[in-house]
Amino acid sequence: MARPTSATIHIDALRHNLGQVRLRAPGSRVMAVVKADGYGHGLERVARALAGADAFGVAALSDAERLRAAGISQPILLLSGFDEPADIARLRQLQVDTVVHHMSQLQMLEQADVGEPIRCWLKVDSGMHRLGFAPEFVREAHARLSALDGVVGEIVPMSHFASSDEFDEPQTAEQMRVFGEATAGLPGPRSLANSAAVLGWPDAHAQWVRPGGALYGMSVVAGTTGADFGLRPAMTLATRLIAVNHVRKGSRIGYAATWECPEDMPVGVAAIGYGDGYPRAAPAGTPVLVAGQPTQLIGRVSMDLMTIDLRGVPGANVGDPVTLWGPDLPVERIAAMAGTISYELTCSITRRVRFVES
Ligand SMILES: *Cc1c(COP(=O)(O)O)cnc(C)c1O
Repeated sequence: MARPTSATIHIDALRHNLGQVRLRAPGSRVMAVVKADGYGHGLERVARALAGADAFGVAALSDAERLRAAGISQPILLLSGFDEPADIARLRQLQVDTVVHHMSQLQMLEQADVGEPIRCWLKVDSGMHRLGFAPEFVREAHARLSALDGVVGEIVPMSHFASSDEFDEPQTAEQMRVFGEATAGLPGPRSLANSAAVLGWPDAHAQWVRPGGALYGMSVVAGTTGADFGLRPAMTLATRLIAVNHVRKGSRIGYAATWECPEDMPVGVAAIGYGDGYPRAAPAGTPVLVAGQPTQLIGRVSMDLMTIDLRGVPGANVGDPVTLWGPDLPVERIAAMAGTISYELTCSITRRVRFVES
């Protein structure tokens, strides 16, 4: 029998979330960010579901190749830009746009064969200090890009926020100010907003928003879930109980015997573990649903299995469904228990998990 572990991707939720982004940023075009295999939801599946997006953003040229092979015809932007001259020819063949964030990329473009038309977004480091031209080099970079015969269309100045998930943190307003100053007077549309800025920083929406997480129904705003912003989770991770055992008071459960039964009790064993992408860091007490009833995991998460407190689910049987996250159990809660963010959890589902759509 096949392992009962599955990730169900809710196509309607993806579409609903795109609609919510459009409602919140009515004046902006939407680039759906589908990097990391669509935040673990499946690249081609997500792109088809979000066919209403104005463009797609990817982090790897191979993802752009997959999208074109799947017949996706919208603009695609390579968010970190190209690594070597051969990539430029490939981008051109695929009609994929690129971010230019570094002098080395600008030099490669200048040395590339003339007549290679390519569209460019110019990344400005407005204060995150990861990728982008320092503000004082933005005008020079823009002028050099504009001068290239091979660069067509409007250059889109863009930047990325470090702290937009904290709605009262001054860094975002400061980044907007730095970006505005560095790009003042340059032509073309602008793009700044990730999901959190779509939700909490309307002044940053500009002509293009670039949401990722929000489209999958996830929030990175501490203490909130996607539902708090009208979003619907796009993934349910589920499995089944493969054993129900009656364990005596004082017995210890699992590796390193970390959890001791406070009474005689039923313990469920579910067919999911860190080998499926469920976080090993999730401690005892992390919520799970058994047959829709809330309870908690106990002991350590192992590679293939986890153990579950069934005292609150007295009728539980082998074969009962176990939900790890989904619309009835926000992935943000699990992430908080595991000391990470929801994005990392959905990105970490491994290949042995069966993906289905609903
Ligand atoms: C990942 C990414 C986004 C999307 O971020 P979310 O928080 O998922 O909305 C937007 N822009 C860039 C450059 C990114 O790398």
